[in-house]
Amino acid sequence: MTAKRILMGNEAIAFGAMKAGLQVASGYPGTPSTEVMETIASHASKYGIYAEWATNEKVALETAVGAAYSGANTLVTMKQVGLNVASDPLMSLSYIGVKGSLVILVSDDPGPHSSQTEQDTRAFGHFSNIPVLDPSTPQEAYDMAKLAFKLSHEMEIPVILRTTTRVSHGCADVVTEDIEQADRDIEGYVKEPRWTIFPKLTAQRHPWLEDLQVRLSDRFSDLFSENTFNSITKGNSRIGIASSGVSSLYAKEAIKDHSETLSHFKVATIYPFPEKAALEFLSDITDLIVIEELDPYLEEQFLQLIGKHHLNVNVYGKKKGHFPVSGEYDVDAVIDGVNSSLQAMNTDFPLLNHSTPVVARENIPPLPVRPPTFCAGCMHRTVFYAFKKAAAKLKKENGKGTVFSGDIGCYTLGNAQPLNMVDTCLCMGAGISMAAGLSHTQQYQDGNYAKQVAFIGDSTFFHSGIAAMISAVYNNADITLAVLDNRTTAMTGHQPHPGIGLTAMGKPTKAIDIAEVLRSCGVELVETIGADDLGECINMAKKAIEYEGPSAVVFKGKCVGITKATGQYVIDEDKCTGCNFCVSQLGCPAIFSMSSGIPQIQDNCTGCSLCAQVCPSDAIVLREVLQ
Ligand code: SF4
Ligand code: SF4
Repeated sequence: MTAKRILMGNEAIAFGAMKAGLQVASGYPGTPSTEVMETIASHASKYGIYAEWATNEKVALETAVGAAYSGANTLVTMKQVGLNVASDPLMSLSYIGVKGSLVILVSDDPGPHSSQTEQDTRAFGHFSNIPVLDPSTPQEAYDMAKLAFKLSHEMEIPVILRTTTRVSHGCADVVTEDIEQADRDIEGYVKEPRWTIFPKLTAQRHPWLEDLQVRLSDRFSDLFSENTFNSITKGNSRIGIASSGVSSLYAKEAIKDHSETLSHFKVATIYPFPEKAALEFLSDITDLIVIEELDPYLEEQFLQLIGKHHLNVNVYGKKKGHFPVSGEYDVDAVIDGVNSSLQAMNTDFPLLNHSTPVVARENIPPLPVRPPTFCAGCMHRTVFYAFKKAAAKLKKENGKGTVFSGDIGCYTLGNAQPLNMVDTCLCMGAGISMAAGLSHTQQYQDGNYAKQVAFIGDSTFFHSGIAAMISAVYNNADITLAVLDNRTTAMTGHQPHPGIGLTAMGKPTKAIDIAEVLRSCGVELVETIGADDLGECINMAKKAIEYEGPSAVVFKGKCVGITKATGQYVIDEDKCTGCNFCVSQLGCPAIFSMSSGIPQIQDNCTGCSLCAQVCPSDAIVLREVLQ
């Protein structure tokens, strides 16, 4: 039976995977990929699937590989920067291949909306010799998830299903089929030399891997006649458009009034490049406009093909500056790029018109400026402020400086004014390693010795902090680690992690104690305190920074995104002097300066009491106290 329902692209992928016979899923949360695993985890018990959040993407992939070697149908999920973490096993895996099936869902983030890079996973597929499918709609995401499992099983190779934010998070009607219980009758691991990578095996497998790319390219060219993922619509002019992913939808919309004139080549099986189909398309055109977000991947494939076959086709895309090389596209951006290309062609083909917007752009009021900051009442604000105060005290007392290395996650926001407490931020887990590296230089700015402080979150500590901390301790780095333990993976939507004691499927499990892990890593001073009392946090931060040798403080609190407010604070206007200290020091989005000089606290106050603790006039009190 089929049913039509409104699904987010990520949910559609989850349903497609479950329909394809998914048996084991693992992943690490990362926007915009997270909902794939969340959907699977919430249906796992019902369909007999095993689902888990792993400590990082490398572990997630290796776990899925192990299950696939047993013959299981497996899925691993991550965002594009997560693929960098998983790239080590990935590069070897393509040589070995898999049994069962293995689909790697990777979500790219053009824009970027929530990432430190705009990297393009299509290029990673090429780099690792792993086929890449690139859906443009939630329906295609559902159907391609099924195709990915089929291809992986048939070709004995992992398959990357790559999405971008608009496909992952866009919602649309999706026709889905009934899902059967996952077959638990998995063959099991069978010993074979094939599963142990050695140089000799690599040398034997490399020709197989290269031959596979040719076979897949042919297969993907054939797919043009098998389904609508890849499609060619022929126009009656000599101008053609090639596109991939969500850009195919923008292209279709942009040229809708010229669909009889302009040819359109929509490539969904992105790597290996379907050369035969591309050659057929190129045989009818003299000018090719390539529309794709992120890297000029398709453009390069076409340029190579055109050069290889000495074709007389001009290519217009990113390389000649007709389309932006970064950022997200939309229909207007595509129309601008097509028009720029048409102008360069010196053709009499009419330029495309932008549709008339319902509201003229110039009449749209500007959005309020909302600088990124911690939520009202977030424990991280207290910890960062405590370290700021402790560092200032130490500077005054002995002239020592402090460098603060941040990490990826909510705590990156410690960078924002007025806290201004993140001096470095690179990637997950790097805060600790970079602090260690900085410590070995022993100097900072004026030639004075500076103590290195690294901040990391609880989930990130498990992701890549442990190995970094072991290295720092082993190599005598003089660093202080602040673990901001708010009991969840907050930035991606509150997934559990090994410190919580709950699996992805909601089952109780052993909670791993971060402080104990730190002690076993060799950290000499390890303290755990709550993050409510600012004075205690300042004292603890000072003690940890002053300690000579590796030290760590685990600050425990609760993410305000998943807890109820404990009360609300208000300003006693009779006591307030209007010094504005509460606003200028903390940056809490619940407190605002007013023209009257007396700040105001809004209803989004969660009652953390931090502002009350810093007010020099005791003018901030619980609402009930003032009433
Ligand atoms: S108590 Fe103060 S600092 Fe805490 S959330 Fe309310 S206004 Fe913000
Ligand atoms: S810190 Fe206290 S006295 Fe100063 S403006 Fe805020 S509430 Fe008023």
